[in-house]
Amino acid sequence: MKVLVTGGAGYIGSHVVRELFDQGHEVVILDDLSLGNPENIDPRASFIEGSIHDLPRLEEAFTQRVEAVFHFAAFKAAGESMLAPQKYARNNIAGTINLLNTMLAHDVKTMVFSSTAAVYGNPRYLPVDEKHPTEPTNFYGYTKLEIENTLEWYAQLKGLRYAALRYFNAAGYDVQGRISGREYNPANLLPLVMEVAAGERAELQIFGADYPTADGTGVRDYIHVNDLATAHLAALEYLSKNKDNLKINLATGQGYSVLEVVEAARRITGKEILVKIVGRRTGDPAELVATSRIAGELLGWQAQHSDLDTLLTSMWQIYNQQSS
Ligand code: UDP
Repeated sequence: MKVLVTGGAGYIGSHVVRELFDQGHEVVILDDLSLGNPENIDPRASFIEGSIHDLPRLEEAFTQRVEAVFHFAAFKAAGESMLAPQKYARNNIAGTINLLNTMLAHDVKTMVFSSTAAVYGNPRYLPVDEKHPTEPTNFYGYTKLEIENTLEWYAQLKGLRYAALRYFNAAGYDVQGRISGREYNPANLLPLVMEVAAGERAELQIFGADYPTADGTGVRDYIHVNDLATAHLAALEYLSKNKDNLKINLATGQGYSVLEVVEAARRITGKEILVKIVGRRTGDPAELVATSRIAGELLGWQAQHSDLDTLLTSMWQIYNQQSS
């Protein structure tokens, strides 16, 4: 199948593009390179440099007879979304509507959508399942929920088929080492730990050590990008064989605390990794872990690379090579 991947030069998109080729698909990438890394563009893909706001470029993508769309092109920094909601509304909502409307104009009816745990907001119970209320606490999560709702309406009204995949904490780099370009300006824990290990950052700030968790630091459910990639392919296959649409979690159910991550990173990298405990970050829940039972049952999907050692080892390959 020929698949359009928006944001195919980005962190998750570039991994999914490799998986698409591994499974025999053809790929058209649309990426404006605002956050995507040109190093990560798979040379086998047909590449269009442009954004989802650029209607002529979008049209160009669809004239290549794509049959399905994987949509990753979005901004994802929750903190920034609270300061610049217009930027997030424009890109994540308005841009996605452009994409959906162009899809329908070309009779392309299948979308695998990059959604997020942020649609749930503060967990009311753990592990979070798909029945958990959706009450985003940041504007980023709201933009993704808006699109999930639009997908549902377009499914009812226009026969759109979709899978909204709610990722928990995406991390890791390709276990086969095929992705060499690092994410720009990462704000997440694991890349920051790697930057400290690589000597690019003096210390890691730990946002709170007084949470009601075993060691007082925040606990999260980290999921390897290669595992996310296989889930996208499984979702595409599911949509081709079944009539229902999907809104499902992608997680492991296993949580790791900030201190557990740091300890494991010290062991794997052999570096000291200085830490400093500072105040809590606004809006951070103590613990966020989820069940992916539905992804297991419907897609036959299970995380295979999401143990802490594999996550960190796959990242250290990239950060160790590139540190000076
Ligand atoms: N965290 C931290 N220091 C950092 C970045 C993150 O202590 O510099 C903590 C954060 O408070 C949370 C966990 O690490 O408990 C994961 O944060 P991240 O930003 O990676 O993902 P989030 O769960 O916020 O989406």
